[in-house]
Amino acid sequence: MKYIFCKNCKDLIALTSGTKYCNCKQTSGRYTDEVNAVYSSEAVPIGVTSNEISKLFSNEVTSFNMFKVPYNSNTFRRADEP
Ligand SMILES: [Zn+2]
Repeated sequence: MKYIFCKNCKDLIALTSGTKYCNCKQTSGRYTDEVNAVYSSEAVPIGVTSNEISKLFSNEVTSFNMFKVPYNSNTFRRADEP
């Protein structure tokens, strides 16, 4: 799953097919299809693997990992107008 983090308002947004904005409106992003997504230049791109998401359904696991997506990612790209 793909998220964006706003350094200004500290909002963390789960992306969907419709454009979503953070609380302060400085960052935005959206999925362009099932796999690919775009985000505005001020946003920090964040990812969570399906394996990590599955940990949320376990009563024994109490933490999971998110990661900062590299800026040269082919599936999560920076765009002027997300
Ligand atoms: Zn913001």
